[in-house]
Amino acid sequence: MSTRQKVLAPVPAGAPLPGNALLQSLPAHELACLLPLLERVPLAPRRVLQHAGLPIEHLFFIQEGLVSVLAKVDGRSAAEVLLMGREGAVGATVMLGGETSDLTYFVQIGGSALRLRLEDLNRVARDVPSLCEALKGYLHVCLMQSSQSAACGLRHAVVPRLARWLLDAHDRSGLERLPVTHDMLARSLGVHRPTVSGAVKDLEMAGICAKDRGIVHIVDRSRLERLSCHCYRFLRAQADKWHWSKMKRKMVVAMSSFVAALEAELLAS
Ligand SMILES: [Zn+2]
Repeated sequence: MSTRQKVLAPVPAGAPLPGNALLQSLPAHELACLLPLLERVPLAPRRVLQHAGLPIEHLFFIQEGLVSVLAKVDGRSAAEVLLMGREGAVGATVMLGGETSDLTYFVQIGGSALRLRLEDLNRVARDVPSLCEALKGYLHVCLMQSSQSAACGLRHAVVPRLARWLLDAHDRSGLERLPVTHDMLARSLGVHRPTVSGAVKDLEMAGICAKDRGIVHIVDRSRLERLSCHCYRFLRAQADKWHWSKMKRKMVVAMSSFVAALEAELLAS
């Protein structure tokens, strides 16, 4: 599949803050520098945003939807090692110096993203140090998540893992109703389809989730959280801690700019 995407529209100057946590964590002057370079693109389900082995040409800051990060298992199949949504960006590994991707990024649930050409990022990198730092921090979070997912797959039962996957998908996609099939869930959890069907049925029977025409609706999120394995709460706490540190930094930068402007005004008066 092609990595070419239809571009909906460039992001106009003065547009509201994009619905992506990485971009929202940036100081206003860095975001203003980036906005003219961002293109809004649709994320069609089942599209490949980045193929393994091909050069990375764009970063995609996800606004809505869900992307599966896939690692090759053998010549024909791949396994999900990570989920990405509006908290992250496809292509962030360029910050580690890699020119090609080792993994495949597949749109699991459709939505939209803001696309940034890598050559544009390289051109303005000195003007957006917070973005570069945020992308590196996000990679650290990704490493923790993929490591925990590997441990989770080895030790935890299917129903708690399914609960965790649904909570992750809900948090990251920005969607209340999740368009997921049993085949998709089986691939994501690395189990057979009948096993997933049984687990989904358990959640439906307990009144925690409802499923209708390929859409899963979380009816009782607090019970789903209690049912999920420890991995969800652990990773959520780690991600929240990282995100809060970014927002705190943003507030400090904003306050410093305000104080500097106030001092200049007082000196001029
Ligand atoms: Zn787990």
